[in-house]
Amino acid sequence: MKKINIAIDGPASSGKSTVAKILAKNYGYIYTDTGAMYRSVTYLAIQHQVAFSDESSLVDLIERYPISFEQTTDGQKVFVDGQEVTEAIRQNDVTNGVSEVSAWSGVREKLVDVQKKIAQNGGVVMDGRDIGTAVLPNAEVKIFLVASVIERAERRFKENQAAGIETDFETLKKEIEQRDHLDSTREVSPLKQAEDAILVDTTGLSIIEVVQHIEKIVADKQVLSK
Ligand code: C5P
Repeated sequence: MKKINIAIDGPASSGKSTVAKILAKNYGYIYTDTGAMYRSVTYLAIQHQVAFSDESSLVDLIERYPISFEQTTDGQKVFVDGQEVTEAIRQNDVTNGVSEVSAWSGVREKLVDVQKKIAQNGGVVMDGRDIGTAVLPNAEVKIFLVASVIERAERRFKENQAAGIETDFETLKKEIEQRDHLDSTREVSPLKQAEDAILVDTTGLSIIEVVQHIEKIVADKQVLSK
């Protein structure tokens, strides 16, 4: 079967990465978490005391400290300049600053270049906000994953609890809404459903139900494009 690219976009905590990881495993594809890249730049900015408003210094950081991924049996690990940051990039200070960092066109250009290269030979499941619209406009399958804000906040709350990150539910809900607002109203590549993306509402669905639903969409597409 031909190796295709699968683009999964959607708002914060809509289940993109959980579902994308399972799909990649099932197809033997590479999973690419583009949010982790924007988070890594935000982490670097905090570490190097670069202001989120300083676009050219943020771009400098990306050039000086390359971001890389390693697939392990424990999941995907993220590194910047050889240092593992998998957990550090999930902390609240990074989460609450990332939308400001990711709004800069200079930052996006650098990271989108890397993302396009990863997917150039097909066989990639990539999740983010602009994969179907800007990074992989020719992806064979495009999914736009949504869920109610309450359910998304509940999911993130549980994830944070499991990871030992302290959060208050109402604050979390407001932060998710604020991040979605910033991501969907920015000028460059805002969060938006691509015209040819299929909308999947995961509210009330289990992870396995969402995976099966998308696998059916992929199977139908591969039959159609043969
Ligand atoms: O997916 P995740 O929630 O980890 O993404 C973190 C942030 O990175 C998003 O809120 C958004 O600001 C930015 N992002 C983006 N474009 C992508 C992926 C993530 O702007 N393709």
